[in-house]
Amino acid sequence: MQKKTFVTAFKGTAIYAVIGGLWILFSDKAVNTLFDDTATINLMQTYKGWFYVLVTAFLLFVLLKRAIQDTEKLLTLDPVTQLPRHYQFTRLLDQQLSKLPVDKALILIYLDINRFSQLNQEFGHQAGDRVLQKITSQLWEYFHSSSLMGRLGSDQFGLAVTIDNDRDIIDNLPELVFRQLHNASEAINIPFKVSMGVAIAPTDGKQSKSLLSAASIALHNAKSRGEEQYSFFSRELSEIAQHRQNIINELKKPELFEHFHSVYQPQLSILEQNVVGVEVLLRWTHPKLGFVPPDQFIPIAEDIGLMPDITRWVITNAQKELTEAGLIPDRLNRISINISAKELNIEDQVKNLQQIFQEYEAFAKICQLEITETTAIYDIKTSQKFIQSLKELGLRFSIDDFGTGFTSLSNLKNLPVDELKIDRSFIDKIETESNSQIIVKSIVDLANNFGISSVAEGVENNNQLKFLQDCGCKEAQGYHFAKPMGIEDLKAFVKS
Ligand code: C2E
Ligand code: CA
Ligand code: CA
Repeated sequence: MQKKTFVTAFKGTAIYAVIGGLWILFSDKAVNTLFDDTATINLMQTYKGWFYVLVTAFLLFVLLKRAIQDTEKLLTLDPVTQLPRHYQFTRLLDQQLSKLPVDKALILIYLDINRFSQLNQEFGHQAGDRVLQKITSQLWEYFHSSSLMGRLGSDQFGLAVTIDNDRDIIDNLPELVFRQLHNASEAINIPFKVSMGVAIAPTDGKQSKSLLSAASIALHNAKSRGEEQYSFFSRELSEIAQHRQNIINELKKPELFEHFHSVYQPQLSILEQNVVGVEVLLRWTHPKLGFVPPDQFIPIAEDIGLMPDITRWVITNAQKELTEAGLIPDRLNRISINISAKELNIEDQVKNLQQIFQEYEAFAKICQLEITETTAIYDIKTSQKFIQSLKELGLRFSIDDFGTGFTSLSNLKNLPVDELKIDRSFIDKIETESNSQIIVKSIVDLANNFGISSVAEGVENNNQLKFLQDCGCKEAQGYHFAKPMGIEDLKAFVKS
């Protein structure tokens, strides 16, 4: 790109130099041929000089004007959709907000295309561009006179619509947008879905900055609920967002690991009731925030790309504690460690884990990595590669929360795992719901047929245990046997 700019600029300058040189050469000659007396020749030379200055000044003006216009356009307008970009959008939004009539409301919709990068990969970038253009044209045609649109990010749009301040009309707006976008998707024959966050002016903000922030908080909430969802901004959401931001700030602090510790939950053989393994679970007790449950901070740590560091800490700390307690390798020979959803898609994570486990070669041979089912089947090829490259080091694999993610038989055949961990929700309802009973029984049969083991998670009473035993399930984990415990308690538990 830089080389091309240089060549174009050089060409232009060279043409100018040649024309300028020729002009001097031939105009001098022409003046000398046309006029004889020195006074006229001198006068003509002066005119010629002025003429030259005027022409080049005009040329310079045209070129500069064009360059500035191009740059401005690039800075303010997105070349793919011809929509204002973020900065320009906020300026125009502020203008609209400042003249918003009292009986009207401005609805700002922050729109995000679900899995846009995957769409680009699957259908190609041209198809991606067509989606962006079709969204633009479809919404523009529909809302046209009362709206302002902008492209706020690679897969994000802003749509501001001024309408009557009537709750019914406002509530119907997101569905209306969804319908328009369904039509758009059908028209170009490319499947895409969007999530939306909605904020209302003046209630949620009177300026572009506060309104955009409210809509983006609502969008975040909509996305956390799945694909093709929408959320209206609310005070509660704002508090949740604030809490999330606090967690992000604390996660980024260098002393983070000082407040981490691990607990271990034993897994027992149902028949012999002896410990066959432990699951390592992370705990974070922050001096100010207090105890933050892993369900809460792990998804955030995933979003900010912190999971590789956290997993490294979990593995190293477990290896150290279990060795120091004298529990490995003799007393315990299966240590389950959770791998979070997004780690599989981090390019270097396989290498990171390989490096850690190469350092702890003996530990690798007794470690089992748990991947949740939805993650494992979401991108089966990536999961396969991930599992295969780490199996070489002797690591075993378990599919966590099994039964929630609709793994097909063929998928399971392609995943070289050693264990299925039956999701707690089924064990929870095993006493009362026949559906859960059927599912648990099928999972145990499936595992047996594949020659791999099945572990029931969240076993809290004898009835559940009895049912599992009747199904042919051999191992269980849950409060019925033991809650997750610190290393000292584990030592006592295993040795008792
Ligand atoms: P998970 O992997 O499904 O972990 C099992 C969760 O069930 C644990 O919650 C455990 O304390 C809880 N549990 C075990 N037995 C029972 C029972 O009988 N009844 C009930 N009601 N609950 C039981 P915890 O420790 O709060 O962890 C929640 C989730 O956080 C885990 O779900 C896992 O997804 C994630 N997590 C925890 N530690 C780590 C970690 O080190 N790395 C990663 N990536 N994720 C972790
Ligand atoms: Ca787990
Ligand atoms: Ca689980």
